[in-house]
Amino acid sequence: MEVSKNQLHSFRNLLDNSRSIVLVPHKNTDGDAIGSVLGWRKVLTNKGYKVTGIVPDDVPSNLLWMEGADTIIVYGKNKSEGDSELNSADLLIFLDFNTIERCGEIATVARKLRIPKVMIDHHPYPDPELAELQFSQTSVSSTCELSCHIIEALGWKELLDLKAAECFYSGIITDTGSLSYNSSDPETYRIVGQLVEKGIDKEKIHKELFQSNSVNRMKLLGHVLCYNLRVMPDSESAYIFISHEELERFSYQPGDTEGFVNFPLAIKGIKVSVLFTEREKDKFVKISFRSRNNIPVNKYSERFFSGGGHLNAAGGEWHGTLEEALKRFKETFPGFLAQL
Ligand code: 5GP
Ligand code: MN
Repeated sequence: MEVSKNQLHSFRNLLDNSRSIVLVPHKNTDGDAIGSVLGWRKVLTNKGYKVTGIVPDDVPSNLLWMEGADTIIVYGKNKSEGDSELNSADLLIFLDFNTIERCGEIATVARKLRIPKVMIDHHPYPDPELAELQFSQTSVSSTCELSCHIIEALGWKELLDLKAAECFYSGIITDTGSLSYNSSDPETYRIVGQLVEKGIDKEKIHKELFQSNSVNRMKLLGHVLCYNLRVMPDSESAYIFISHEELERFSYQPGDTEGFVNFPLAIKGIKVSVLFTEREKDKFVKISFRSRNNIPVNKYSERFFSGGGHLNAAGGEWHGTLEEALKRFKETFPGFLAQL
């Protein structure tokens, strides 16, 4: 992957004129979002910058082991500190998202800030208004991989130390299902090779990411697979729903439903999988989509659930009840597929 010389030149200029940098990822953070915030934070701190990570909402518990995760500002819980850091920053870097709404409440402040903004992301259709400098590359596995390419192109490879390597590796691994999808480019493995050379303990990282589940999460997974999985054979699709009451019953913690959406795809013949999670009772449903081949779930989500994302992995929202969201899906999805 080639990072454009012009973009690199602009980035260098912005960095040269900054001292205090704020890093912001999308809401409902995942390994790629947190990995890129903490990886960049380490690298930029090593370069001598004052760097703050501000996330819209809680960091999922399986990512808290990463260096610096405990000092990230959670905007939803600490607005005043978040605002003060944002207002004193010289440079804002958006990581792993492409439209301002995706960073939740931080958007209100970020919109007003008259400082340079940079976006580093791998989602299609970036909003040209989001940032004046956009490193947007949809062919890379993850924002973490793209970040490693940029760091290499800046000539900063030695600043990417062991702790930063752990973070970037985690992002690549989470966004590719442990290198099972979105990972057919040899470049991804060249970057992974470099991260391994930094001395990361792969086994430890995989254990932290995927084998540190709470008993409640495992029971919630068992429960939904048993009772809340529906198959629509005519559409080669399957979906899972989780009510707010069920989240409470299993003492839901952020990140607990991460990966649930992949389970229906393990059913023979299923090409599309959807997860509906009622985050606020009767008010708000978060939706995750996964697909195989060229079924554009990002397009579907954009049209019917105010969302977006990648061709095969997208997300959306429904402001209303879980029943309404399910009804809308069942009524619109077969027609959408038929049109493709
Ligand atoms: P996940 O299902 O893992 O939450 O998200 C899958 C992909 O869709 C991610 O790349 C994520 O950034 C994107 N995505 C998730 N939710 C939304 C949303 O509400 N709006 C948009 N535009 N993208 C989303
Ligand atoms: Mn990502």
